[in-house]
Amino acid sequence: MTEQPSDSNTPSHEFHALKAALDPWFAYSTYRPGQEEMLLRAANTCNMGGVMLIDAPTGSGKSSIVSSMLAKANGKLVIVAVRTISQLNTFVRELALIRKKQPTLRYSYLMGKGSSCPLGGEGDIYRKCEIVKSLSTSLLKERAERGNLNPMEDPFIKQQIRKNDEEHPIICPYFIRSKAFVRSDKTQALRFVASEAVRRKGEVMTTQSIDPKFLLGMCENLCPYEVMMQAASKSDVLILNYYHLFDAGIYEQLCTLLERDPSDILLLIDEAHNCGEVMQEILSTELNEIVLDNAEREIAGLRKEVRNLDAIRHLLPSIKKFIDGLRRSKESEDWFDPALFSRIILKESFFTSIDEVVSELLSAAEVLTEKKQKSGDFRIGGIEQLSLFFEKISRSLTHSSYLTIYRKEGEKIVLHVRNIDPAPALSEIARYHHTTIMVSGTLTPLESYRQLYFRELDTKPISLLSLSNAFPKENRKLLGCEDITTAFKMRQEKSNTELIEEYIMQFSHIPGNLAVYFPSYAMLETFAQATESRIEHKEVFIEPRDASEAALLHATFTELPMKNREGILFAVCGGKFSEGLDYRGDMLSGAMVVGLPLAPYNNVRRMIMDYYKKRYGDAGEFLSYTLPALNKGLQSLGRVLRTPEDHGVLVFADRRFLDSEIFSTIPQWMQDELIVVNINSFSNHAI
Ligand code: SF4
Repeated sequence: MTEQPSDSNTPSHEFHALKAALDPWFAYSTYRPGQEEMLLRAANTCNMGGVMLIDAPTGSGKSSIVSSMLAKANGKLVIVAVRTISQLNTFVRELALIRKKQPTLRYSYLMGKGSSCPLGGEGDIYRKCEIVKSLSTSLLKERAERGNLNPMEDPFIKQQIRKNDEEHPIICPYFIRSKAFVRSDKTQALRFVASEAVRRKGEVMTTQSIDPKFLLGMCENLCPYEVMMQAASKSDVLILNYYHLFDAGIYEQLCTLLERDPSDILLLIDEAHNCGEVMQEILSTELNEIVLDNAEREIAGLRKEVRNLDAIRHLLPSIKKFIDGLRRSKESEDWFDPALFSRIILKESFFTSIDEVVSELLSAAEVLTEKKQKSGDFRIGGIEQLSLFFEKISRSLTHSSYLTIYRKEGEKIVLHVRNIDPAPALSEIARYHHTTIMVSGTLTPLESYRQLYFRELDTKPISLLSLSNAFPKENRKLLGCEDITTAFKMRQEKSNTELIEEYIMQFSHIPGNLAVYFPSYAMLETFAQATESRIEHKEVFIEPRDASEAALLHATFTELPMKNREGILFAVCGGKFSEGLDYRGDMLSGAMVVGLPLAPYNNVRRMIMDYYKKRYGDAGEFLSYTLPALNKGLQSLGRVLRTPEDHGVLVFADRRFLDSEIFSTIPQWMQDELIVVNINSFSNHAI
């Protein structure tokens, strides 16, 4: 008999009603430990409306939360936001299983145009699409008004498609085949609708599970995005990437096209520990000298068309001078004062305020964009990037959540206006949606994520749920080293570094493939250099800085066990091999996180911390500085145990993990199972 969730306030009869609603949507015959409680509580949240944060370790069956949402959807659309294709595939598989019980279930996904658009040509894909669609629509309309309602039979349209330059397209043949004008029987007015072919493919997409890698092939000569949108409009569940949800402009457009208000949507956000970072990235912008050179060239070519361009041209040397001044700085990253920047820029210009600069840049960017698009050039221009940068500079003058930073990359200087507070934007999303459920295997401590994401949400109830690790306890060993640290003051201490090397050497004797994660490339290189030649019993792999070499190295490493060989991977916490990758079975038998992977402490970090202290008081330092490091560490260790059959050793190799303020924030199952070791006892426990 199922127990009612102990920490739920749901009365017994409601609990039974929830269970009765959930069961027909649950795809499996049995629940995993803790899974039923999670799904019932999620169903309850969907029923009442509100926000729920769930910390559910790998193996908890968290993708079944979509069953809870469907059970309580009552005609609302379920949207699942994911970050990677592998997450998307997980939900497609889950929904395929649910459909075996619920044959009428319709679902689909929406991938970005960047990965799905087959049209050639360079430049920004969204801009290119917008323009070719607009010109294609005009062409279709003009021909329809002349009575040609079947574009694919229209010789003129066929001729235009033949004439279209593939490298600099001005119309989109895929779009033309995907749309059609029809005449209304009653009014005889023209209506623009999805073509019959798109409607057929949309039907296929919602009723069959189409693997994303076969999407382009399935769409044949139609626009995949139009097919996906057609499918989305007929779906009960839509899977999309974070950017579709977090970019306010894109999401608003999507809701309009789907004719859905967010209050009519149940939202599930997977791998939700990433939300803050992705939201901040979307809200930030940067400027470098290449942009300034491009802007200079564009101004030279635009002088006749836009008055007052001289005023903009005069800005550029001042910005360059400002950048030159920063070149002398000894810091690789530091804050610059936006007020000082504005004064310097305005002093030698014809403008009296930054807002005036923004407005002038926007007008010039508009003319330039139009001119470039006519010639099939869809790249984002220098003036346009400059206008985005000044818009954010203007914001940083009044909003302390926008921090102005410069970074030195060799001889190059990059100016950055970085958003450092995702709470207002994430609170807004939750405020307008009927239900928002965020889930991750590393959303610990939940209370911290609640503060970090929903500080400004006071109109909705927020509930928290943490699950324990459902995998067999006997398959894992969790160790914490009490005698080493990578804390700054100990980094050069010879006895400490030698001990870390000794730990790595002892760790390397654990049978199977292993990974050692470091806080930075610099530290990785130091310790790899010190130990590589001594590790004779395993093949050594070092995470490359260049992303293009990473895939091959990763494949070679993970294939070793199949060839009866073993290796040790030196990688960076938060790098290419520490998140989003599944090392199932023998692919990884142990992971060691050397050091608490805190971001380098500098002026920028201090300012971010000050901002958070103002917002959150004492919790500010933890939220802004320690929490991201803790999450990176947990993500790295989380690569090892991916299925109930996996065995592995997980090592927190820094005594700071054992300090009570940090130890009390790691997941409860880790706190319960962790064995404190020193260099003398490590091997006995680990091997
Ligand atoms: S309409 Fe479709 S095929 Fe054409 S540019 Fe846009 S996304 Fe690409």
